[in-house]
Order: sequence, then structure tokens, then C-alpha cells
Amino acid sequence: MKTAPGASGLIMNEPLLWEKGKKGRKGMSIPAADVPLATPEAALAGAGPDFPDLSEIDVIRHYTRLSQWNFGVDTGLYPLGSCTMKYNPKTNEKQAATPAIAAAHPMLDDEYVQGTLRIMYELQQYLINITGMAAATLQPSAGAQGELTGMLIFDAYHKSKGSKRNKILIPDTAHGTNPASAALCGYKPVPVASNAEGMLDVETVKALMDEETAGIMVTNPNTLGLFEENIRAVAEIVHAKGGLVYGDGANMNAIMGIVDLSKCGVDVMHLNLHKTFSTPHGGGGPGAGPVCVVEKLARFLPIPHVKKDGDTYRLDWDNPDSIGRVHGYHGNYGVLVKAYSYILSMGAANLKKASQLAVLNANYIKERLKGALHLPYDRPCMHECVFSDEKQHELKVATLDIAKRLIDYGYHPPTVYFPLVVHGAIMIEPTETECKEDIDQFIDTILLILQEAKENPQLLYDAPVMAKRKRLDETLAARKPCLCG
Ligand SMILES: *Cc1c(COP(=O)(O)O)cnc(C)c1O
Repeated sequence: MKTAPGASGLIMNEPLLWEKGKKGRKGMSIPAADVPLATPEAALAGAGPDFPDLSEIDVIRHYTRLSQWNFGVDTGLYPLGSCTMKYNPKTNEKQAATPAIAAAHPMLDDEYVQGTLRIMYELQQYLINITGMAAATLQPSAGAQGELTGMLIFDAYHKSKGSKRNKILIPDTAHGTNPASAALCGYKPVPVASNAEGMLDVETVKALMDEETAGIMVTNPNTLGLFEENIRAVAEIVHAKGGLVYGDGANMNAIMGIVDLSKCGVDVMHLNLHKTFSTPHGGGGPGAGPVCVVEKLARFLPIPHVKKDGDTYRLDWDNPDSIGRVHGYHGNYGVLVKAYSYILSMGAANLKKASQLAVLNANYIKERLKGALHLPYDRPCMHECVFSDEKQHELKVATLDIAKRLIDYGYHPPTVYFPLVVHGAIMIEPTETECKEDIDQFIDTILLILQEAKENPQLLYDAPVMAKRKRLDETLAARKPCLCG
């Protein structure tokens, strides 16, 4: 490895604004009032919050310095598995900020907002085409809320059949939000063990599926980064007992334009626009988790729903079977515009190519690192690959040490200790937006760290030494967070 992208020079220290402020400093000067003050100045003193007095340059430097401590997709490779931290083209931000779109009032009558309704309608159609489903709602504001919406649709469907169901099957390779969303809806999650290949096993599902079970929630590709090859057979078993199949489509980045989920037997699924379709995320949103369904479930979708009559778009409220609203107004509209802009600017062929490159990049990393790191499931992966620290056990080096040492070399660590089915997991998702040179540099850095682990493991135990914050006591940090700086 020739150079690392990390740098430690010229990173400024920055105190709290309260420590920095000095009585009498001002951000701007206002001419003296030529009328008497309505409230005497003395009466104002001491009222309100204790804000420090600061000059303009104090404030600008404070926030600029804090922003330079930040690390994001625009700074460097962010290989966080299960998150799709890909680069988001700036044109999508620009379209979402178009004044006519950003300032449109959500309570205007349909006739005044034909353009914004059209964006919603067409985005629904694109998502339907991408997934192979029949209808979509754009309301949910996150993947997990999409899951809850899906579970409410499951419930409405079973009630419409006069059937009472209280359980749901959840594979051990599903995302953690799946059992949580199902439980929130009143279903008891029943874990399904994956087989030695990390796959959902047909016989295991057959043994667990009964007529009290509402269906199954399948994350596909699963959290091992593997495509659930038995999905069709599993869906047939679930359908035969009157159940439904939920597809967690947060990992759609691996299969856009390649897999038709309806042909896999999926009845309801969500997409994460903030992962696959170009909205920067991490740190809490906003996001969007549209839900797509097959024809027979369309009547349960949330209201209002955007419809098109001839050349006119309208919000349709008239749906007695709907589960109701799951979000105020139209969902996180800005995120919807970014996804719409992303899909239009990419086009169908390039969306497919993005998935192919995401898969190629992950497999390249898997192949180059598998000699140095233990690869528990050695088979072609999708958009991410999962290693473990098993080979480093004898050196007394753990996943956390490797992750922390990466920070010293200027990399955001990958996802660690998830999925839970792999002990000491290291889950890497490069995404399609990284070029070969940058991926090679990342791989070389990991190989260098693994060499350090053999020669001088103390370097890893102490890491990070270059970052502003050194190694934290993670337990203490979680139990007694210090939130004041
Ligand atoms: C991210 C993710 C979710 C949850 O999505 P949020 O938008 O964070 O609620 C669900 N399933 C999978 C597979 C994911 O990767």
C-alpha cells in the first residue's frame, strides 16, 4: 500500500460555544433605535436561554470545524454492510430543491398540484415495474415503517378472510427490524433457523407453517448477503396454508432489473429509497420506505392514494378496505423526488448495471480477502460479504480491533457483529459507486492491518490513535453517554 487517504494534520480543536463566547461579542450590528424601546432593556436582561455572545467568525468557524470532523459518503468509502452507503448524485438534491416542488403546499387542491401528484404517480409506477408488483404506496417514511405497513396489510387481509392468525415466521438471517415490526402489529415472531449454506430451508419452513401463522418475512438478499434461492418453494408452502409472503426489499440494490419479486411468490414488500434510490442517510433520516403489493392486496393500501384519470392526477380517498393513513400528507416528499430523479437519470439499463456492479464489487472483495479473513459462507455473494475474526482468535485480535484500526487509516469501519448468525461478523458492502482503485486501496489496508495483528497486535488494541476520540469504553459509553461534548 503506497498511501492512505487518512490525514491528521490541520484538524482543529473546537470548544463548546459556551466556552468560546465572550460577553458583548456580536454577529452583526444594528443601527441604534430612534424610537423608545417597547420593553426597557433592563427588563429583558436575564430573560430567555443563556446563549453565549459570539461574533460571526466564531460561529462560522465553529460549525465549519465540526463539519470537518464528520465522515460521510462524500468524504470516502463507507463500507457499512446492510446499509447501502453509496454515493448520491448531487443532481437529485438539486431537483428536490426546485422551488416549485419544495414550496408546494401539501394541502392545496389536486388541480393546483398536478405536477407534484404526477411525480408521485410515476414514481409508484417505476417502483411497481422495478419490483414486479401491482400497486404501491409512498407513505411510509422508513424501511421499518414499511414493514409495519406490510404487517397491517397482512392483518387486514386475514381479517377479510375471517381468519385469525397470531404468528409470523422470521428467518434468523432476516433484518432485526422484521421481528420488531411484526411484534408491533401483534404477531408473535417465530424464528426459522437457516441451513449450513446460510439459506432458508424448505423443510424447516414446512414444519413450522400452519394455519395460525400469518405468513413469513424474508429479507432477500438476506443479511449474509446471499440470495434466498428457495424463495419460490418457501412461498408455495406458505401460500398453501393461506399465508402471505413479505419481502424485505431493503437490499434491492443487488437485484434491480434482475429479479421479479412477484415471480418469487412475494405478496408485499418495501423498498428503502434512502438506500437504493439516492437519498443520503445515516444519522436519522429523512427516509422513505414505499410498500408494493400484488393485485389482491391493493385494496388494503393506505389512503390517500395517487390515481390517474385520463390526463388528470388525483388523490383517491375512497377506499373502505384501506388500513388508513400511515404518514401525514404525502410521506417524505423530498426523498420521493430524489428517487424519481435518480430513476429517470439512470434509466432502466443503468439501474440494472448498478446492481451488477454492486454485486461484482462485493464478490471481488470477498475473493481478495478470503485467504486472510475467515469466510463462513464461501459462495457467490450479492451486494455484501460477511467475514469473521475466527482466524485472528489465536492472535487475540477481535473484529472490534480491526474495525478501530481502519479509522486510523482513514476508513469508516464496516458493520461489525451483525448478522448475529456469524460470531464476530465483519460485514462489508462496497456498493457500485466505488472504483477498482479505491476498492483495492481498502483491501490493501485491511491486509496491512491483518499483518500488523501478527507482528504488533498492540497497534490494534490501542486503535484508533489518530482520531479525535481514542478507543472508547463501549459499555460505559452506551450505559452512561456523555451528551455535552
Ligand atoms: C436498513 C434495513 C431495514 C430498515 O430500514 P430503515 O429505513 O432503517 O427503517 C430493514 N431491512 C433491511 C434488510 C435493511 O437493510
